[in-house]
Amino acid sequence: MTTYRLGVLEGDGIGPEIVPASVLVVDAALAAAGGTAIDWVGLPLGRSAIDAYGEAVPESTLTALAGLDGWLLGPHDSAAYPEPHRSRLNPSGTIRKHFDLFANIRPAKSFDGADAVVAGTDLVIVRENTQGFYADRSTYKGSGEFMPTPDVAIAMGIITRAAVERIAIEAFELARRRRKQLTVVHKANVLKMTTGLFLDVCRELAAGYPDVAVDDFHIDAMTVHLVRRADDFDVIVTENMFGDILSDLAGEIAGSLGIAPSVNSSHERAMAQAAHGSAPDIAGQDVANPIAMILSSAMLLDWLGARHHDATLTEAAALIETGVADTVRAGTRTRDMGGTAGTRDFAQAVADTVKGLR
Ligand code: ATP
Ligand code: MG
Repeated sequence: MTTYRLGVLEGDGIGPEIVPASVLVVDAALAAAGGTAIDWVGLPLGRSAIDAYGEAVPESTLTALAGLDGWLLGPHDSAAYPEPHRSRLNPSGTIRKHFDLFANIRPAKSFDGADAVVAGTDLVIVRENTQGFYADRSTYKGSGEFMPTPDVAIAMGIITRAAVERIAIEAFELARRRRKQLTVVHKANVLKMTTGLFLDVCRELAAGYPDVAVDDFHIDAMTVHLVRRADDFDVIVTENMFGDILSDLAGEIAGSLGIAPSVNSSHERAMAQAAHGSAPDIAGQDVANPIAMILSSAMLLDWLGARHHDATLTEAAALIETGVADTVRAGTRTRDMGGTAGTRDFAQAVADTVKGLR
């Protein structure tokens, strides 16, 4: 029996509620799938880390993470940090950059009980996480914003062949494991060089994946298609900013952002992170919906399963997905989904459902 070591970073707001809820469900799923165990490594991050170590992401946390191949990251409320911490890159950005987590994988999948705009949506957005026009994400010093005078602001974006290749390979490989359909989203009629290169490299790589059907759309046209027929799409690959906007749109089309999971990964490491924020308005009341964090944890197991060729992890991930859907369908829901279950009780119900699946 293999034991994996995964980090647990609870973060701020509802993090100390939804992250332990996810740990509970993961442990139950692994036990049900055949006994693989996780050695959980708790690490400080966020407001509590500022108070105890003077840093939102202490050096000791980064060092410990370097020895792990995955972790659960709770949300952070960096807007509420005291200066100078508030003005710095936020904790997830710091970690993402430090470990070059270049792929942001955001599924949008509807299920019964969630208020989907397009029922039957089951797509995954693969977002390039290090380049484009987002200064704080870029690993390149030349990318960013500046103001030559107080009345002129300039933004620069960067796209490199190497970065497009690595994200496109992730997307093609994922499409191959799913419905074998890949959509490239760009704006090659206006941002001809940058997103044009993105499109060209994806098309070149398509030759190596004859089993995957490839099409492409401009970002503006893509929003129209998603609203009308999100259920026609399988895997979507795009650059940083387009992926940011498109994944919120897709998340809402599939249900609500409150249940949308994500994983940020490199070839070596993966970080599970809910798409929503720290929800300070409901923190500490045992009413937060842990679904996004639980499903993000399932994605991490799936990623680990593929990386270590460990079918038990893949199986546990599938059990969690089914367990969440079955629990919601049976009527156990948190307040935001119209129910009365608390965070802890909801997680326990998912854990019990998962155990009953085997
Ligand atoms: P951030 O800047 O960190 O993304 P945000 O401004 O987008 O934060 P959230 O923290 O995501 O805000 O919260 C937005 C609203 O959604 C709040 O009213 C919050 O209570 C609610 N919310 C967010 N996550 C959850 C959750 N898991 N369960 C229930 N309600 C949630
Ligand atoms: Mg937000």
